[in-house]
Amino acid sequence: MKMEQKYNCELIQDLLPLYQDQICNAYSRTVVETHLQECPDCRKILAKLRNNCYDAQLVQEKNNVLEAHARKERKETFLIGASVAGILTIPVIVCLICNLAIGHGLDWFFIVLTALLVTASVSVVPLMVPEHTILWTLGSFTGSLLLLLFTICLYTGGDWFFLASVPVLFGLSVLFMPYIVRKIPLPGFLSRNRALLVMAWDTLWLYGVIIVCGFHTAVTDYWRIALQITGFCILLPWAFLLIIRYTKLQAQVKAGFCTILCGLFGAVINPVLALILQDWERFHAYTSLAILPWNAETFNIITALSVTAATIPTGIVLIVCGIRKQRRRNG
Ligand SMILES: [Zn+2]
Repeated sequence: MKMEQKYNCELIQDLLPLYQDQICNAYSRTVVETHLQECPDCRKILAKLRNNCYDAQLVQEKNNVLEAHARKERKETFLIGASVAGILTIPVIVCLICNLAIGHGLDWFFIVLTALLVTASVSVVPLMVPEHTILWTLGSFTGSLLLLLFTICLYTGGDWFFLASVPVLFGLSVLFMPYIVRKIPLPGFLSRNRALLVMAWDTLWLYGVIIVCGFHTAVTDYWRIALQITGFCILLPWAFLLIIRYTKLQAQVKAGFCTILCGLFGAVINPVLALILQDWERFHAYTSLAILPWNAETFNIITALSVTAATIPTGIVLIVCGIRKQRRRNG
């Protein structure tokens, strides 16, 4: 009898979800209901099933409410964006009319138009783009800024478009490239070496700046001097990248090595620049540590050496602390 009861319970419990959803046939329903009347265990299970159902319903309802709220908010933000865009068209129309009436043509109107595009890129775009907002904003800001520079250059008959736009792109790239590279999907090797990609990209733009400046300068021996100085100075950030990203040292040890490098760089940068500039008098002053008589040059030397004197011990302390921390963790 007991065995039969247990068997029945298992059978009934299999049927309970169907019973609960009211999709079992009439015979099964009668069997279930009859059994439930005399079995408190199965009644409990049915009650639990119903509760779960209510929970699921509640979660569903909550999600619906949140989704509706988000939709409403998106719609409102979009409307604000559209209104700002509408407001921005007013000066465009005014300037269009003025330019046509006074100048009988269109010239400076395009400067106003592109300037307002820059404004729109940081006000309208973030409000109206539904996803990847920051990427879209950065993209449209950069594009419209370049367009503005190009328009002004064209209107004023200048030849400085690249001289202005390459450094602008370099600056924006230094600021925003790390973020962009983190956000965009990249193939295998590049996705594992995003920092390397950013550094290589920024280095290229830095050389771009040096090159465009080269076409606008009358400095003798510009190319050799500019490329050598840039090449030497870029060693420091590249060394940071190698230490921070590609060594398996403890964080404080890394910081220590970077600090020491900074100090050494400060100590050698002046003589190296003098050497590249072939300024032998300065080179001699920097390397012989001739600090008398007192002048601006001596002050320069003392400052550089003080920085070095302060950073090297700091770096060593960081390295020692880092190693001790690592040892304590390991043992
Ligand atoms: Zn039962």
